[in-house]
Amino acid sequence: METAVIIVAAGRGSRMGGAVPKQWQMLLGKPVLAHTLAAFRGMRVVLVIHPDDRARAEGLGVDLVEGGATRDASVLAGLRALEGSGIEAVLIHDGARPLVSRALIDRLVAALESHAGAAPALPVADALWRGENGFVAAAVDRTGLWRAQTPQAFRFAPILAAHRQHPGGAADDVEVARAAGLDVAIVEGEETNLKLTWPADFARAEAILKGRAMDVRMGNGYDVHAFCEGDHVWLCGVKVPHGRGLLGHSDADVGMHALTDAIYGALTEGDIGRHFPPSDPQWKGAASHIFLSHAIGLARSRGYELGNCDVTLVCERPKIGPHALAMQAELARIMGVDAGRVSVKATTSERLGFTGREEGIAALATAVLVQA
Ligand code: MG
Repeated sequence: METAVIIVAAGRGSRMGGAVPKQWQMLLGKPVLAHTLAAFRGMRVVLVIHPDDRARAEGLGVDLVEGGATRDASVLAGLRALEGSGIEAVLIHDGARPLVSRALIDRLVAALESHAGAAPALPVADALWRGENGFVAAAVDRTGLWRAQTPQAFRFAPILAAHRQHPGGAADDVEVARAAGLDVAIVEGEETNLKLTWPADFARAEAILKGRAMDVRMGNGYDVHAFCEGDHVWLCGVKVPHGRGLLGHSDADVGMHALTDAIYGALTEGDIGRHFPPSDPQWKGAASHIFLSHAIGLARSRGYELGNCDVTLVCERPKIGPHALAMQAELARIMGVDAGRVSVKATTSERLGFTGREEGIAALATAVLVQA
């Protein structure tokens, strides 16, 4: 089922306090909404914002829709933005629940195969009281009571119709769906799927995030190009004058090729040859930054950022030292990272082997990717 996500983030969140609404406050170094969006990586997302937050939201890289005065109106604005786009199912989620897991999202999508709606909830475990003036006035039977969470999942056309005919004032989308006669299945929720409501919730959310295993990926790359006739070589994006050239299908930038293969390796995405087959004439003489840009773009599309990389060039000549800083800067520029994350160094092979005989240049690279 073609599924989209509406993240509702237009509220002003008066209970939290603070200079900015809670969904824009910082959680472990990035806005709450950046964490929420990361949970839905790879899915089509519509973010419903308050008009005052447009400048903040524009950097997030998702479709923006301005919400209305109420939560209902904001959800309807999001649904309208998806109308006619072929979407068959929609998950409607509070922007202030940044810890929702992929497993919960998958359970909800699976439940829509057999239900018009599905929503996560947890059974109430504590005893419930009704209080009056600071005293217990009555015990409340908790049998059959659930604590509702989001995302709430629905087939698209019925929930759009339900919102259109609802008079407004609903607490959530399940209430809107039920008012229209839709069945909503309860799916097992998660204790960690917190709704950030009070200042202390931020400390809990940070502790949960820190406890999650960080996904770190490492790859290596190795490449060799033989010398040929010429008066320069391309190494790590820098044109270096030399009495010979390097032979290759592209510009033969052996250092950049090794680095590109290291990134593909970290992603288990093969090597340059898989993505840019040498049999394809369009890559003849290609500048190698095309390959490196593709590899780092693929990493980012999977939610990874470069932690650091280290490239070693193996040759007797040309001397790399005078060009190493320019190479570092150029690789960093191509990948869009700080130069402090890029190392370029060189060694000779003590006149041994093919590099020692100056038949060609070899390069090794290691790249570490971390989940952004
Ligand atoms: Mg190569």
